[in-house]
Amino acid sequence: MYKNFQNHLQKEIAAIEEAGLYKHERVIGSPQGAEIELTDGTRVLNFCANNYLGLSNNPKLIEAAKEALNTHGYGMSSVRFICGTGDLHKELEAKIADFFGTEDTILYAACFDANGGVFEPLLTAEDAIISDSLNHASIIDGVRLCKAHRYRYANADMADLEEKLKEAQAQRFRIIVTDAVFSMDGNVAPLDKIYELAEKYDAMIMIDECHSAGVVGKTGRGVTELFNLEGKIEIITGTLGKAFGGAIGGFTTGKREIIEILRQRSRPYLFSNSIPPMVAAAGIKMIDMMTETNELQDKLHANTEYFMKKMEVLGFDLKPTESAITAVMLYDAKLSQEFAAKLLKEGIYVIGFYYPVVPKEQARIRVQLSAAHEKEHIDKAVAAFEKIGKELGVIK
Ligand SMILES: *Cc1c(COP(=O)(O)O)cnc(C)c1O
Repeated sequence: MYKNFQNHLQKEIAAIEEAGLYKHERVIGSPQGAEIELTDGTRVLNFCANNYLGLSNNPKLIEAAKEALNTHGYGMSSVRFICGTGDLHKELEAKIADFFGTEDTILYAACFDANGGVFEPLLTAEDAIISDSLNHASIIDGVRLCKAHRYRYANADMADLEEKLKEAQAQRFRIIVTDAVFSMDGNVAPLDKIYELAEKYDAMIMIDECHSAGVVGKTGRGVTELFNLEGKIEIITGTLGKAFGGAIGGFTTGKREIIEILRQRSRPYLFSNSIPPMVAAAGIKMIDMMTETNELQDKLHANTEYFMKKMEVLGFDLKPTESAITAVMLYDAKLSQEFAAKLLKEGIYVIGFYYPVVPKEQARIRVQLSAAHEKEHIDKAVAAFEKIGKELGVIK
């Protein structure tokens, strides 16, 4: 039986390779950070991690995790509602709600699970989900698991959203669903306008703050802070795997009854293991650190501004960003790959993206800034961009 299937898979793999879409893993032998060492011995400056606040290798988080290993052991060996809820899980849930100004929080093993498990318990075939066309794969999958009517509006297009809201008046309840930051451009969802439309057309809002929590807004409370809408959004999802420490874990935070129903019915919560106590402990420490000081957010914002300015002066074409994601536009797919490969030889690790990850003729290099970067790291990256940019005729 396997022989035929094996042939089929081998052809699929060859087709992926031929299309230039084969994903290779680069193996890192050092902790995550501004500077990393690959197992082949090369050292590179890292500009492609979601390590926005540089917490992935933070000594205070490591210490908190180690301490929890000693006091709470290694794993829970249970889902939350059987015997997988520890004091650290409850404390972290409360801290996350405090941080975002929401009423309650439910933890998941990942935000993929938070998004996968949020719609089906809450909405039925009588209801409507109105989703941004560029939403994350986990939102798309979550929507698929739910019987609600589906509407899709063009990315951040408020006229289109309004059209869809009018159509969705046919349903009982409506929810608008959007990523807070779109990861290929770095732009934010226009939550102020979305909120106005939601009020006008009697809709709720769910926002996924994965790339914005810890990053966007003066104190890193995300896009709800940017638009002064703290406490007004029904559902916020986020990850502990990006700015918030970079290990693993996700959450849904928002209105009390919504979180309560999720605890009763959300399948990834009911049927998948609890996060390890050490991850919860490090999460608690992380929120405490962010509540005490705004140092890391300030540094990240300054770094992003510094990089953008220097690149623009050199004549590079950058998408306006409202996050720590910057897109250096090259338009041509092949050029984006050649440029990124040459940057790696210069010790700068970035990724070139092209169709179908971004629209046709919109190839780019994505540069992700971090509070872990020092000025000299950014200077080195900009110098490498200048050298390769001139070599490949992108800038003069
Ligand atoms: C990264 C990401 C996720 C998935 O988060 P995990 O915790 O890694 O599963 C979900 N949504 C968005 C918008 C993301 O960027």
